[in-house]
Amino acid sequence: MSMFQGNSIQVRPLTNGLVELCIDRQGESVNALDARTLDELREALVGLQDKQDIKGLLVTSAKKTGFVVGADLNELAELRKQDEAEVAKVNGGQAAVFSLFESLPFPTLAEINGWALGGGFELALACDYRVMSTKAQVGLPETGLGLFPGLGGSVRLPRLIAESTALDWILSARNIKPQAALDAGAVNAVVEPEQLRDAAIAELESRIAEPSTWQARRQARLVAKPDVSDEAFAQAKETLKKTSPHVTAYREVIELIERSIRLDRDQALTLEREVFARVLKTQAAASLIQIFHNQQHLKRKGQEYGRVARKVERIGVLGAGIMGGGIAYTSAVSGIPSVMKDIAAPALDLGMSEADKLLGRQVESGRLSAEKAAAIRGSITPTLDYDGFDTLDVIVEAVVENMSVKRKVLADLENSVRDDAVIASNTSSLSITEMASGLKSPERFAGMHFFNPVPVMPLVEVIRGPQTSDQAAATVAAYAIAMGKTPILVQDCPGFLVNRILTAYILAFLHLIKDGADFAKVDEAMQSFGWPMGPAYLQDVIGMDTAEHVIDHIAHGFGDRLVPGFEHAVACMVQHQRLGQKNGKGFYHYERDPKGKPKKTAAPESYELIASLQAEGPREFSDSEIVQRMMLPMIIEAAHCLEENVADGAIEIDMALILGIGLPRHLGGPLKYCDWVGMARIVEQCEAYQSVGKLYEPTARMREMARSGGTFY
Ligand code: NAD
Repeated sequence: MSMFQGNSIQVRPLTNGLVELCIDRQGESVNALDARTLDELREALVGLQDKQDIKGLLVTSAKKTGFVVGADLNELAELRKQDEAEVAKVNGGQAAVFSLFESLPFPTLAEINGWALGGGFELALACDYRVMSTKAQVGLPETGLGLFPGLGGSVRLPRLIAESTALDWILSARNIKPQAALDAGAVNAVVEPEQLRDAAIAELESRIAEPSTWQARRQARLVAKPDVSDEAFAQAKETLKKTSPHVTAYREVIELIERSIRLDRDQALTLEREVFARVLKTQAAASLIQIFHNQQHLKRKGQEYGRVARKVERIGVLGAGIMGGGIAYTSAVSGIPSVMKDIAAPALDLGMSEADKLLGRQVESGRLSAEKAAAIRGSITPTLDYDGFDTLDVIVEAVVENMSVKRKVLADLENSVRDDAVIASNTSSLSITEMASGLKSPERFAGMHFFNPVPVMPLVEVIRGPQTSDQAAATVAAYAIAMGKTPILVQDCPGFLVNRILTAYILAFLHLIKDGADFAKVDEAMQSFGWPMGPAYLQDVIGMDTAEHVIDHIAHGFGDRLVPGFEHAVACMVQHQRLGQKNGKGFYHYERDPKGKPKKTAAPESYELIASLQAEGPREFSDSEIVQRMMLPMIIEAAHCLEENVADGAIEIDMALILGIGLPRHLGGPLKYCDWVGMARIVEQCEAYQSVGKLYEPTARMREMARSGGTFY
């Protein structure tokens, strides 16, 4: 007999006066809190309000994957298009559903069988008790989306457990294991999955027997918390220094709880929905919710590659340098044995000692046992010849950046590998098409562009030449995924995707300098805007000679649009042997302070050199002018890439820049950022800089979008 039957919610009687409310969203593998589920929950709970004959309510999930994984992000993305007042109204209505648990005339218990995340955990917190499986996890991941728990979580968690722990869980957005949840007092018992149902019922029945206990417990959630620790909030504010100032959710949620914990539940909920509406409307929330979607999209694509790809069990690397060594090491750590070939024995030694250093650090920090480290090292085979190359599934070429050397190496390689092996090149600037043209079987060849340092950088560009087969591209992508990387497929063009767009950005910088800007001021402005480092410092890190080569090569690949056409600062630095960090002097001067810490200062010599390039002398630029002049060419180049199908879509382009060069996540990528500002304004800003150069010429499609109100997403 069913007491309520909806699409996601069923209520049915159990024995001994207990009732089960089961969440089971039909047609979905997980329970998410969409509007329909919440409506049904409201209806079900309203129906139970006056049921004096019921003794206790058990809240469960029918999904094997877990309890409830959180809000429906598609709906949240839609909701954020409404104005703040409407968002607050909708959010408040949803949060009010959970409050219905707290007016039932009997105790409630959530049986947490798996993930109870975000709204799922907030739902469980509205129950009087929680019993959790040893296989389950709870957590409030919302700050990772630029949000905070806004379905009563900011109200109930800090009332239930220590304020400092509640703030830590909310600010860190991490999943909490059962023991930690139990220790904090967030759940009442943790049991093996097989005992969960019995333990939950036993717990609920024992609580029913003592009405004053559960009533007092519930009452404590409805009123202000006594003896609040101010210290917890001061400490939480300290942690803010480690978070992006552009993601205001962190600051907002600390300040919210600091106030609301001293109010009763309903006043606190009113405050929560007001702040939630404000935070949901921020750029950071818009971008981070989109990034979450993007990651899901890329994950699904990764699964598709997996279906087409050949098995990758053993790989080879040519060149034991910075990149080759990093690729062999990262493969080994991911459980893929490798053969690493070089032409020079000392290079092989260097490659292996680099792996030793990285493994040593892992052992030291306790992340890896000494035996495991030895086994990983043993899975890299250094060699000076092609012995054993006929056992390899994928071979990545990472020798010096020189077309004729690479073509020669690839031709030799082709004769030493199986016919079905896939060959990839880690070139950062050479044409994949040209490299492929010298091969007997160009269809099994692709670019595999890693970023430095390989073990750390999450992106791999997989470059398709005109003849690259679907299977070869998918195999390279699947291999990148097996290494823990995110592959993004791109078409061959100078600079591929990331370095091409980065070049437009660097050119913007060179124009700014020519027009009189102070490089240190540009760096400061871009850092305040959210970049991990400014463009001048970036050139110092990359190395001025490498940067000059990249600018030249890529810029000349696109007519006169990206060609500087004037003597620029990077070339000038190279001429004067200011190569950047690698020789201790670039735009900045590098030295160690008395404690041995590296220190950088804007070098007077650089200003002198640059003065000779600034025909009109130095000029003050406002931060907003600097940001516009730096970001517009990046947006325009990204738009060109989209129009030319260099990548599959806006998602791929935006994610490549976030993962490849650390474009600030709160911007969501150049195209998402453009959507945020609005194309009409972007095009208008471009118009204002037409005199600077072609770099600021929007594409025809951008102009069309500006007229029609079009967006990339
Ligand atoms: P590197 O100079 O550190 O290493 C190159 C290695 O290749 C050397 O050990 C050299 O002995 C070896 N080598 C040369 N000829 C060889 C041959 N015929 N057979 C086998 N080994 C040979 O260079 P790197 O920085 O590791 O760059 C390698 C490739 O990766 C280049 O194509 C480069 O453009 C690309 N890349 C570099 C970076 C970077 O930041 N360093 C980033 C992305 C891509």
